[in-house]
Amino acid sequence: MQPVDIARYKYKETLHDQCGVFGIYAPDTEVAKITYYALHSLQHRGQEGAGIAVSDGQKLRSIRHMGLVTSVFNEENLSKLQGFIAVGHNRYSTTGGNTPQNTQPVIIPGNGNFFAVAHNGNIVNADLLAKKLVGVKRFSTSDTEVLALSIFHNPKPSWEEKILAASKDFIGAYSIIAVTKNKLFAFRDPWGIRPLVIGKLNGYYVVASETCALDTIGANYIRDVGNGEVISIDSSGLTTIGMIGKKPLKFCLFEYVYLARPDSLLNDVLVHEVRQRSGKILAHEAPVAGDLVVAVPDSGTSAALGYSQASGIPFGEVLIKNRYIGRTFIAPEQHIREQGVKAKFNPMKKIVFGKRLIVVDDSIVRGTTMKKIVEVLRKCGAREVHIRICSPPVRHSCYFGVDTPNRKHLIASHRKISAINSFIGSDSLRFLSLKGLIKASKLKASRLCTACFSGKYPMKVNYGFSKNILENVC
Ligand code: SF4
Repeated sequence: MQPVDIARYKYKETLHDQCGVFGIYAPDTEVAKITYYALHSLQHRGQEGAGIAVSDGQKLRSIRHMGLVTSVFNEENLSKLQGFIAVGHNRYSTTGGNTPQNTQPVIIPGNGNFFAVAHNGNIVNADLLAKKLVGVKRFSTSDTEVLALSIFHNPKPSWEEKILAASKDFIGAYSIIAVTKNKLFAFRDPWGIRPLVIGKLNGYYVVASETCALDTIGANYIRDVGNGEVISIDSSGLTTIGMIGKKPLKFCLFEYVYLARPDSLLNDVLVHEVRQRSGKILAHEAPVAGDLVVAVPDSGTSAALGYSQASGIPFGEVLIKNRYIGRTFIAPEQHIREQGVKAKFNPMKKIVFGKRLIVVDDSIVRGTTMKKIVEVLRKCGAREVHIRICSPPVRHSCYFGVDTPNRKHLIASHRKISAINSFIGSDSLRFLSLKGLIKASKLKASRLCTACFSGKYPMKVNYGFSKNILENVC
């Protein structure tokens, strides 16, 4: 029997981000090793492939493979990545897009030059852009390659002008770090949907998806790359070279719910505190009598603490997560997925027995994981199981770089909350209101993308893109 990727069942059950990016410009520094540590801290953003490309001013050397950061890189291969500018990428892909050709950074060589690109997000008009690349050979099916080729083949003379000119045609979410022979570029779509932050390490600049990567390598957080901002980093320091369009910020609200690490700052707001506040607000919106507030670890933990603090009901650890499950095999079949949940979360029977439990989690996507959790808690003798979800029902697909199942698999898209409650077998089920979640984020509603909850997309998303492109978004 093949090994089963238990971890992926929870992973696939919730929405999941699709990439983590990191870049560094630092002469006389082991840039590949620093990128390795940064990517390791961004592993939660992508677990199916990793890559690092390093420029020494003449040549670009790269390593890109399928697998976790720790399995792709070792002392020996990292020591071969000599240079002073590095870009790294963690990849998550949907089924079908999980191929070595789609690992990043995407590297475009030609005319004695090169352009290496790491991308987090999804270009919704990638098919249209691909059609404009007449006569240009493509090696992968990713939208990132289309984006990189569009910049590389833009007729403007300098990289700065190429990026500014080509990016005006990109529609969608993109937080990008790119490396040329002597420069590091970082830029973000005009809506700033996915995060991208700037830090400083020993006087040199670094750019990363999240501040947790800066903490890991000992860099100080400076600021976010602004929405639509294009920056270049070279021997003269950091320069904003221009803006791509002018749009209001529409930062992804789901980053706060699940995608980002709790120890990261997003828009200067600590993710853990947003989750804790969301739990507190939920306790006021959806109170229920119970003996113990428990979290579905790890993403529900901060919110469960908040729910416990606001309700006065004690917080207790009940579901123990197996953290040592391999990711070697992905089995989408329903019966295996359900079995997987049991192995991932082991409830402590002694604590559960006879209790009225309030189980807090970040979101419900298909409902199969929560159904199984309720089932095992009841088997352990729970007297009542009440589910409290710290986000609104996910009713719409994401087109901006987050893996969402087809809308028909989003349980809240076609079932009422009472029907979901019956399906998962809980005594009660309540979701946090959108208003409550926005309040917890401390950002204005007008500055957030809420589309997977509200259906209100910040831009047109239907460009007739093909399945081919969509399968390989990153
Ligand atoms: S639809 Fe918007 S809020 Fe939802 S995951 Fe995608 S970017 Fe985030």
